[in-house]
Amino acid sequence: MKTIIANWKMQLSLKESLELAKQAAKKIKGKNKVVLCPDFLALPFVGPILKGTGLDLGAQNSAMVSRGAYTGEVSPLNLKALGVKYVILGHSERREHLHENSNIINLKIKAALENGLIPVLCVGEKLEIRKNGETEEYLDLEIRHALKGVKIKKATDLIIAYEPIWAISTNKKARPMSAAEAESIHQFIAAKAVKILKQPVAVLYGGSVNAANAGEYLSQKNITGLLVGGASLKIKDFSYICSL
Ligand code: PEP
Repeated sequence: MKTIIANWKMQLSLKESLELAKQAAKKIKGKNKVVLCPDFLALPFVGPILKGTGLDLGAQNSAMVSRGAYTGEVSPLNLKALGVKYVILGHSERREHLHENSNIINLKIKAALENGLIPVLCVGEKLEIRKNGETEEYLDLEIRHALKGVKIKKATDLIIAYEPIWAISTNKKARPMSAAEAESIHQFIAAKAVKILKQPVAVLYGGSVNAANAGEYLSQKNITGLLVGGASLKIKDFSYICSL
């Protein structure tokens, strides 16, 4: 069984989110664990649609503390109470547009874990880093900073998503990384994560995954699932990816 996570970002209206959730609830079946991450406003409405379907609910962010004077933030405690199981943290879009740094991401991971949420830590290098041949050094630092002092009890308590920034479909000139190259980086990340966390956590691939290339990624040993952006908004493509 692999884990397939849909990141709907801020792409849909509330009405569109509910429609997509209803279609997903009807069409997605199979052996894989599937998680839908709508925006915050849609979460309380998508949750009941997914009840009893086997699909899980995820959020796209959560605060670095459970309660307090943090105007505009969303508490992991409240997300948990709503039935949210997973939370995407450290996505490159938040690192870039909202200036989230490793320290903030580290605190968010700890707050999510304290509240029984499963953090999906996103890591990935910019094109420049790749061109300089510094991908592994960069990922090493990014992972060590984000996971500093993080303790988990079992392997399923945390997920890492490797998303090379230059491969994310919304970036200009984005192109998917080859499955063979992704597999070798996943092997590196998995080994790093097990050293830090003492648990063999799942490492998902994300970046221009679509119905045509998903199978190749999923057939790799160290790619234990996918984080899907653009293609998760097309129900035909996404239900096919989830069936692989
Ligand atoms: C993402 O941004 O998390 C992502 C994987 O996007 P896409 O699949 O559209 O490249």
